[in-house]
Amino acid sequence: MSAADNSSDSFMVILMKLFEHEAKDIFREFKMPTPPGGVARTPEEAKERAAEIGKPVVVKAQVLAGKRGKAGGVKFADTSDEAAKVAEEILKMRINDLPVKAVLVEEKLDIAQEIYAGITIDRNERKYVVIGSSAGGMSIEELAETSPEKIIKRHVDPFLGFHPYEARQMAINMGFKGKQINRLAGFFMILWKIVQAYDVELTEINPLILTKDGRFLAADARLNIDDNALYRHKSLIEELKREPAEQNERERLAAEHDMAYVELDGDIACICNGAGLTMATLDSVAHYGGKASTFLDLGGGADAERVKKGIEIALMYPKVKAILVNIMGGITRCDEVAKGIISAKEDGDLTVPLVIRMVGTNEGEGQEILQKAGIPFLRTMEEAAAKVVEIVKEGA
Ligand code: GDP
Ligand code: MN
Repeated sequence: MSAADNSSDSFMVILMKLFEHEAKDIFREFKMPTPPGGVARTPEEAKERAAEIGKPVVVKAQVLAGKRGKAGGVKFADTSDEAAKVAEEILKMRINDLPVKAVLVEEKLDIAQEIYAGITIDRNERKYVVIGSSAGGMSIEELAETSPEKIIKRHVDPFLGFHPYEARQMAINMGFKGKQINRLAGFFMILWKIVQAYDVELTEINPLILTKDGRFLAADARLNIDDNALYRHKSLIEELKREPAEQNERERLAAEHDMAYVELDGDIACICNGAGLTMATLDSVAHYGGKASTFLDLGGGADAERVKKGIEIALMYPKVKAILVNIMGGITRCDEVAKGIISAKEDGDLTVPLVIRMVGTNEGEGQEILQKAGIPFLRTMEEAAAKVVEIVKEGA
């Protein structure tokens, strides 16, 4: 099944990072200069690519990891036979524990200067930030430590966008002169167009190489798309042949009901509302010596039906020995939560012990409902976490 004919709305795909060659395809669509070359999946193919180029080449591991150069995943070859040989070596490697399934064979550039150009989101400023440096090659994080003064930044006004005069100013601040200013500015403008077209979270050209004969070319390419915007880029995902992450029945059901659901190795299912509270609940369970089996965030405004569904999904996971429900009533009403739990119990669905803590909206009503049904509840998250851990340990 391809991503495109997955009709389900739960479009839970892979983290959307593009391989260098995929990112470069997009760069080229936007008319950015990149070195000539192509992808190879076998040494023979690498030889063909190198022969097509007919010049010394660089052979680069295609893995979703940075610093491939340092890991030995970027090698040079003067002849096509040599290209086949280094491709064979690289295709056997694992980089950052990822297998190398393809290499990119490109014309080797004569470097006069390595430049950095990128755009990412500055979450503190809530704006895109365009970043440039005349000292490319090393990672921007390293550069920030060794020579922060060499990093030029410009935030993008979300209403005004990023303009050519700003790109030229970046190039000037990076120390470029004359015709180089416009040429370099062009790369920033293309990155900005791509950022807008693809809801990009991070894009980087590092290095953007200035060759000895005065050409600027994107020698590396990084492009990460915001996962939350992937529904707008289904055709790209299809084109890149990305498969949705394999989901088991429980994950599929949870996604269908719009619940955040993650399975872990322990035995206590934590059902809460809000990701922060769920996380804190997992921490609490760990603090009292327990292990969570499930992160289940019901989301805001869960009604009785939804609570019941959450319990049902959690119980489908065979590892679960107890359930901890921790609810901060806000939009979610405690009486609705209580009704959901009772309905799960009455239907005979509740096959493991359940500990509940809930506070907030309609707390009194909720507690009364639980009390009448003989279901104990606790007042604090700490008490509830300690209790559920105790129950599991007793049962063991
Ligand atoms: P990374 O280590 O994963 O970021 O991979 P890069 O594609 O950035 O390559 C690492 C380094 O290899 C670059 O910083 C360059 O120094 C060098 N390199 C990459 N492509 C070329 C090229 O075409 N010619 C030359 N001379 N060096 C290159
Ligand atoms: Mn790089």
